[in-house]
Amino acid sequence: MRLAPLLSLFLVTTPALAQKYRFPMELPASGTQPYVTAYRDHDSAGGLQDWNCGTTTYNGHKGSDFGIGSWPVMDAGSRWAVAAADGKVSFTNDGCYDRCSTGDCGCGSGFGNYVKIDHPDGRSTYYGHLMNGSLTVSVGQEVKCGQHLGKVGSSGNSTGPHLHFEPRTGTSSEEPFSGPCGASGSLWLSQGSYKGLPSDQCETPPPPEKDDSTLTSESPTGTPSVTAGASFQKTWVLTNSGNTTWSTSGGYSLALSGGDALGSSPPASLGGAESIAPGATKTWTLAFVAPSQPGSYSGDFRMDHSGKGAFGATLHVDIVVSSTASGGTGGSTSSGGVAGIGGQAGFVAIGGNGGSGSGPSAGGSTAAPGADASEVEAGCGCRVGGQRTSLHALLLLALAAGLRRRRS
Ligand SMILES: [Zn+2]
Repeated sequence: MRLAPLLSLFLVTTPALAQKYRFPMELPASGTQPYVTAYRDHDSAGGLQDWNCGTTTYNGHKGSDFGIGSWPVMDAGSRWAVAAADGKVSFTNDGCYDRCSTGDCGCGSGFGNYVKIDHPDGRSTYYGHLMNGSLTVSVGQEVKCGQHLGKVGSSGNSTGPHLHFEPRTGTSSEEPFSGPCGASGSLWLSQGSYKGLPSDQCETPPPPEKDDSTLTSESPTGTPSVTAGASFQKTWVLTNSGNTTWSTSGGYSLALSGGDALGSSPPASLGGAESIAPGATKTWTLAFVAPSQPGSYSGDFRMDHSGKGAFGATLHVDIVVSSTASGGTGGSTSSGGVAGIGGQAGFVAIGGNGGSGSGPSAGGSTAAPGADASEVEAGCGCRVGGQRTSLHALLLLALAAGLRRRRS
């Protein structure tokens, strides 16, 4: 009957990634090193059974006890209990007599002077039997793994100076050691051997999630000239230079980040099964339509992570719309660049219609009279022949008229 509420509590309070613990005591530079005195008891029938199926425990013990030596070591005040992992102090108790040797001094629910830390993974850790007046943290304080909490003492139900360490989820104590009679997974970063000490190294937190992209190549480059109304496309190769993997289900797409979409329909989606891991590349090819008015146009695109915004390289599509005039006489291709624009590869017209003309295009063919935009505009996009001069003048006029919308 208790299964359902316990299960729901577990689901609510235990995220997927458990924090790993360091040994919860500072190892002294010299003198007596800490040692195990009692593990958690796994025999609910009254016997003794520790995580390794041994008997280093006492009946009903819920935590792990680590001794520091005897009273003189405690009196030297040099043995610190430390946070096993990052967290926030959620409870402290102080003021208890700290030289208990009978095991039944009470105070602090038997823990005597103690600290409770809540961790981001939903667990809490308890540090019991500390010296009176030695606590160095207070409720609400954020603590880092390894930070001093208080000095090891013998307050509460204790028979001698030691630290009682106990992880809990909610009110349920947990065994941090994995073994044949213990937990299936260790809560220690490195639990060490039986009756040895767990490592005193803190867990290195995973690096924060970082979305990034780098432009590896693009085609065509620069600012080609495109006939008004013509369709064209541009291709970018983006490298995933972050530490996240791009997928549609993960909320990644290519979105317009500025300027003109130029007839495209952002955001562009990754394929349903596409998964771009860190270091891998993604080739984006977008189809555009040049505006009908002469001028310079820009569109900017960036990778977008839904809810987290745009990131990484900006992909530009920059064009000069060359003409709305009919034409198409002369050669259909040209090569070489126009001064001031640069000798970049041109856009490939993929079936555009001229602003004033009509009819399907045939890339590379000679246009019919009255129709334009049927050229394959390699190179600068200039036409070979008599229109070069007038076209060039038109470009300069367009630039001078400030028709250029945006460049970033
Ligand atoms: Zn204990």
